[in-house]
Amino acid sequence: MTTAAPVTLPALPYAENALEPVISAHTMSFHYGKHHRAYVDNLNKLIAGTELAGATLGEIVAASAGKADRAGIFNNAAQVWNHTFYWNSLRPKGGGEPPASLKQKMEAAFGSVEACKKELANAAVTQFGSGWAWLVLDGGKLKVAKTGNAETPLTQGLKPLLTVDVWEHAYYLDYQNKRADYVAAVLEKLANWEFAAANMG
Ligand code: MN
Repeated sequence: MTTAAPVTLPALPYAENALEPVISAHTMSFHYGKHHRAYVDNLNKLIAGTELAGATLGEIVAASAGKADRAGIFNNAAQVWNHTFYWNSLRPKGGGEPPASLKQKMEAAFGSVEACKKELANAAVTQFGSGWAWLVLDGGKLKVAKTGNAETPLTQGLKPLLTVDVWEHAYYLDYQNKRADYVAAVLEKLANWEFAAANMG
């Protein structure tokens, strides 16, 4: 009998303290070390012995999206995927000027890079309760989207380029209730526009 490979927690693309002072190592230790890890562990427990054991994370998300009897599996699988995507959406000394390919799309869709960032920040601040703000491609068009809880544009026919986690666990230790300050700091100082541009391909 073979044992199906479990879903694994990917390594962070930088050290836990690499995003300081915008996001503290303290926040990272809980957000990555506890929350992200718990989604992985919960997912593996939920799929053990089912037909989804051994499937890839993408397959699990696709096979559980919109299915009431697989809501627990979807929530944990999508949160694993969203968090890995979020870590890659950030980088130490990020922000600044997006690569030309992305800048062009931002200008075409929003008029300017600043207007695009403002729209993304607005989505992040106005997402009611837990969720995510996203920069996505809809066909070839750049758009801003927001999703609640574990929902992800992946299952909505959209191509995610970049995300900001706006669950309270993402910012409460560092910013308390000031979500807008967290979002502004992340977009100005940590946004990994190179990652977003690479995802356009
Ligand atoms: Mn989170």
